[in-house]
Amino acid sequence: MDVDKWKTEKGTGMQNSLRERARDSMLRRRKQVRTRIIMMNAALAILIVMCVLVVKLISLNKPGGSKDEENAVQTVQAEKQKKKASPTPKPTPTPTPEPQGADRWLRKDLDADKPMVALTFDDGPYAPVTTKILKVAKKYDAKVTFFAVGNRLNTYKDTVKKAYEQGCQIASHTYEHQILTKVGPKQIKSQVSRVNTVLNKLIGCKTTALRPPGGGVNDTVRKYVGLPMICWNVDTEDWKSRNSTKVLSRCKNIADGDIVLMHDLYPSTANAVAKLIPRLVKKGFQLVTVDELFYYKGIKLENGKVYFDAK
Ligand SMILES: [Zn+2]
Repeated sequence: MDVDKWKTEKGTGMQNSLRERARDSMLRRRKQVRTRIIMMNAALAILIVMCVLVVKLISLNKPGGSKDEENAVQTVQAEKQKKKASPTPKPTPTPTPEPQGADRWLRKDLDADKPMVALTFDDGPYAPVTTKILKVAKKYDAKVTFFAVGNRLNTYKDTVKKAYEQGCQIASHTYEHQILTKVGPKQIKSQVSRVNTVLNKLIGCKTTALRPPGGGVNDTVRKYVGLPMICWNVDTEDWKSRNSTKVLSRCKNIADGDIVLMHDLYPSTANAVAKLIPRLVKKGFQLVTVDELFYYKGIKLENGKVYFDAK
């Protein structure tokens, strides 16, 4: 082998070796790039999966995340918006209707176990005295009963209306203070009906009780009067004494179920009432109308029958 040939062969061999190395290095680089791409893809895939999982977890933990709750929230929001758009007027509380007519004389919220007494006033109305009695009664939420004489009602109509508005009972003492035992059936009926006619015009109702003038009752009266007759068991004799101290002394032993007789004609009676009402209230009495007294004592009033107390 000559030197040139050897040199040529040697040169070619070296070139080959260089080429191979270059190829190997290129292949390695390619392999590395491919591996990196695969790893990056894998990392991306893991990242995507993790993101999906995180989103899922957040949606599960979110309050109201369920379909139903979501719907409920949407409904509430829609209703709120609806309300904003057309606000429904607030319902105004409907006040309990005031009892009318004779119902005013029967309160239904009294304590049946507490003692009760009915103060009653005959022969009025007479504004100067009746008004004073009403003033005290109002102050202590006391309801009293006026057995009014029919032919006086129009003269003192404002007083009558005031008493009615205050829940005091307007009862009948006949139209002309007629002693009913002295007249016949026609007159008895007329004495009752004429009071009702006037009263109906003034307060829109009829009487539910009558006190026979002088306490005069007989079978004819019982038959034709058409109302329960309410007498009394405590007589203050105010018409006789015209003295408030004496009137008060006759009221010392007032007891549960009593009906007290007075007259709203005398200033001394009004003065006595001004002291009597607070005293009775302090003792625990409920001052009630005649209708209330019998109602709470469980006594059903009957037309033509006479009552002296509610015991
Ligand atoms: Zn009388």
